[in-house]
Amino acid sequence: MIYQSTRSRELTVTSTQAVLEGLASDGGLYIAPCPEDFDWKALLDKDACTMSAAILKALLPDFTDMDELVQKGYQGKFAAPDLTPLAKVGDRYVLELFHGPTAAFKDVALSLLPRLITSAQQVEGMKGDVVILTATSGDTGKAALEGFHDVPGTKIIVFFPDGGVSAVQRLQMVTQVGDNVQVCAIRGNFDDAQTGVKETFAACEKMHLPGGAHLSSANSINIGRLAPQVMYYFKAYADLVKAGRIAVGDKVHFVVPTGNFGDILAGYYAKCLGLPVGKLVCASNANDVLTDFLQSGVYDRRRPFYKTTSPSMDILVSSNLERMLYLLSGGDDAYIAELMAQLKETGRYQVSEALFARLQEVFACGKCGDGDASAAIGRVWQEEHYLMDPHTAVGWHVADGFMAAQDDEAPVVVLSTASPYKFSGAVLEALGEARMDDEFAMMQKLHEITGAPVPENLAKLQQMPVLHEDVIDKEQIMDYVLSQVKAWEEK
Ligand SMILES: *Cc1c(COP(=O)(O)O)cnc(C)c1O
Repeated sequence: MIYQSTRSRELTVTSTQAVLEGLASDGGLYIAPCPEDFDWKALLDKDACTMSAAILKALLPDFTDMDELVQKGYQGKFAAPDLTPLAKVGDRYVLELFHGPTAAFKDVALSLLPRLITSAQQVEGMKGDVVILTATSGDTGKAALEGFHDVPGTKIIVFFPDGGVSAVQRLQMVTQVGDNVQVCAIRGNFDDAQTGVKETFAACEKMHLPGGAHLSSANSINIGRLAPQVMYYFKAYADLVKAGRIAVGDKVHFVVPTGNFGDILAGYYAKCLGLPVGKLVCASNANDVLTDFLQSGVYDRRRPFYKTTSPSMDILVSSNLERMLYLLSGGDDAYIAELMAQLKETGRYQVSEALFARLQEVFACGKCGDGDASAAIGRVWQEEHYLMDPHTAVGWHVADGFMAAQDDEAPVVVLSTASPYKFSGAVLEALGEARMDDEFAMMQKLHEITGAPVPENLAKLQQMPVLHEDVIDKEQIMDYVLSQVKAWEEK
């Protein structure tokens, strides 16, 4: 299987090289055609790790030891035995993706990515360290730090928007221990951080870094980050079959709280591998650029940026949409390069009618402001005694609209992307309680009201010292990376 850049077909690599590089040198994302004849039905009675390894072997065939990588990657990391349990809540299902070490769905992929990278280093006979650059809207940063800290042969630098993440998200990152980690705040938003990181990749492409180091990414622009997320769509489907809710072959709709379009693209991969996915419903918060795009065919980032109670979705430039457009255009690399150039130069593009029609076959969409998300948290708690975080609540609200307009009997699964305790303030308010200054007092209060246990990894943050206090301008990202790599090398 050959991976190629979404912007030029000539730029080809193996799956191990794609994972090591993260981003293609022309700024495109690596992608391969979907494997045909994948025997997905054989997976339905398997456990989550076996499912994951089978899917990853199909998508990343150059790794030689996938079963072992997956077993070791997840061992002892998740509080739920089958990694991603499915809960029945009212008239729909909630796929809980937040039982990993940092209480967000990114753990599903970032528990594996460090192992994929070190394994790829061996397959490729690579010398020199891999330096992971990560821009985070809140959750990727900590999940990546948790995965990469003290992994030999790797270093990691995380950039987050100063004031743009929740208090708990920030604490999770700035208390990170490890000799190979660095965390830095950016004066700007997530898009600034992501752009700065992408530009650093491009600029360092031809540069010789100290110690022969190579840059790579833990964001979902890296196919090694995206591929492990495909598993839980199959797992949810298998659970619905086991529960007798569907027969094998029946379709299921998935509602996905969306930011960088990685999670929902993993759902499209599941569909390509044969899973009977009905609609993939893209749920946006007030930063509704994707929802507008899916309704109009015009992607226009020239709009106000809002800070919402679902900060991990506060994104205006969704990187993985590029992969989706590539796949639905039949791999038209020149066309994708043209659209991305337009986006860079003018801040907008419009897709062809044919492409727009294909998008509408696959996706539905909807948006949800902070008020509606808050109301959903309160209502679902009162009616179902189920506590959601604000990102999941965006999905829940959009599912309401989707289900009202839908006339089939197919089950609806809402992906739950984070623990409510990561956003205690917003969740308390939604339950009619006052916010407090102290984050840990709020966690405790939430626990008293709901009885739901506080994840251990969040409770222990209170005792941990702050180790990272750097704040820089977005223009300084590249210099920061170069001086940090040099400092590590001289150590
Ligand atoms: C990252 C994240 C999202 C958005 O996922 P994408 O793959 O970026 O679309 C949604 N919710 C939470 C809690 C997240 O951390």
